Amino acid sequence: MAKYVFVTGGVLSSVGKGITTASIGLLLKSRGYTVTAIKIDPYLNVDAGTMNPYMHGEVFVTEDGGETDLDLGHYERFLDINLSKRNNITAGQIYLTVIQRERRGEYLGQTVQVIPHVTDEIKSRIREVAKNSEADVVLVEIGGTVGDIEGLPFLEAIRQMRLEEGFNNTMFVHVALAPVLSTTGEQKTKPVQHSVQELRRIGIQPDAIITRSPRPLEPGARRKIALYANLPPSAVFSSPDVEVIYEVPIVLENQGLGSFVTKRLGLEDREPDLSKWEEFVKRVKSATKKIRVAMVGKYTKLKDSYISIIEAIRHAGAHLQVKPILNWYESTSIEKGELSPSKPVEENDAVIVLPGFGQRGAEGKIKVIEKVIDEDKPFLGICFGMQLAVVAIARHLAGLENANSTEIDPDTPYPVIDLLEEQRHLDKLGGTMRLGASPIVLINNTLVYKIYGGLEIVYERHRHRYEVNPKFLDRLVSAGMVVSGYSLDKGLVEFIELKDHRLFVGSQPHPEFHSRPMKPAPLFVALLRAAQGLTPYTTTN
Ligand code: GLN
Repeated sequence: MAKYVFVTGGVLSSVGKGITTASIGLLLKSRGYTVTAIKIDPYLNVDAGTMNPYMHGEVFVTEDGGETDLDLGHYERFLDINLSKRNNITAGQIYLTVIQRERRGEYLGQTVQVIPHVTDEIKSRIREVAKNSEADVVLVEIGGTVGDIEGLPFLEAIRQMRLEEGFNNTMFVHVALAPVLSTTGEQKTKPVQHSVQELRRIGIQPDAIITRSPRPLEPGARRKIALYANLPPSAVFSSPDVEVIYEVPIVLENQGLGSFVTKRLGLEDREPDLSKWEEFVKRVKSATKKIRVAMVGKYTKLKDSYISIIEAIRHAGAHLQVKPILNWYESTSIEKGELSPSKPVEENDAVIVLPGFGQRGAEGKIKVIEKVIDEDKPFLGICFGMQLAVVAIARHLAGLENANSTEIDPDTPYPVIDLLEEQRHLDKLGGTMRLGASPIVLINNTLVYKIYGGLEIVYERHRHRYEVNPKFLDRLVSAGMVVSGYSLDKGLVEFIELKDHRLFVGSQPHPEFHSRPMKPAPLFVALLRAAQGLTPYTTTN
């Protein structure tokens, strides 16, 4: 039977609950326990797929094609596991199921209510993940902040789970902000006290509190929080700001959180093995050789929109013992002429053109890629970035004037990126995205094949609608483009590269979703190698 750790948040959202949850998971995993993690999002969207990255950050794509909250990315990276779309539960999914069931008459005339019908559905989904994963411990993070109206049914559900699963099988961890006043430099505990009070008002007594603060919690503040939270001071942990997020588990382990959790859950307290993790953190922090990477996209003001790519670059940097410096360029500014497309190319050792949707900013990205081609700069185009690389090759090298993706210009004379014939009919019905991991056949002896270490078939995750138009392939190939991978099922173009270029790779799938701290994604390693003037791959890669 699984044990559950429920993580709630207090005072503010975005205090790092996701990282904290992932860190608790790692402390358990380092003791030999199997873990899985669930993110609960109290919003009414059914999934994150329809949400603006500016509001919500990146949409993390799971192996099975779920469009999920970015916290699932933290869980996968910290725990080195693959999660399913079922690991992201939203209020939208819950209410949709309950209402559809009501319409089918399955409630047999009952009045359908938040308690018990909505809470039952929440509990059943949590338990279903527990059952399918067969994990020893299931971490459940409740999004938002205690006190939010939409979060109440979820808190009520976990309160009930304590009764049903038993005290020793459930633990409540509350993560809250202890701000430091900029005027006096004083650490304040009142907001934490209030959020714990709010939690207790609805029947949840936390078993541990983790305070987020710019600096470590002072002993006086710890005692005060403990007293008001009805806990011993040893149940209050401090998670101060750290240089790299991967340090968080170590900081918490050093305060004894790992054995606190195992004891509380009645698990055997084993000796943790965090040696590889510590080594990785050391590598990230000690690297001094700077590699400048241009990040060209249109959501550059909210870096969370590209969090998996940022982390993938970090993993590759740690592997190569270099320190990537990310410089951000807003493609809409390039498009409007406020920023020269040469800038990202001149000011950096490598260029990444980021994923995206829609017309705005696309011309700016195409212009940057044309400069990349001229200057022989190491380049990686991801998803939309790959599609626009094909457009740039068409215009700049194949002489197809005004070539474009029909997503940007439906009337282009050369639709080198287009919807497939079969998608056009489906379009009206929605659901046309290619989502999730699928097999890709790599072409022998291409650069991408070598970068992937000579694998014939690789799996990467997708999230896109448009495809390289096979009608123009001959002309693009004559102009120097190489197709280095096709989808196994339909023969769609998955990877492209450019002949006689230091490194110019376009990837239709998102390689960033598979990158893990100690297993960096090969394409990012290749980019950072080429950025240093090395061959993009080693034979032992
Ligand atoms: N807008 C492009 C498409 O739908 C690319 C999507 C992306 O970059 N994720 O095909």
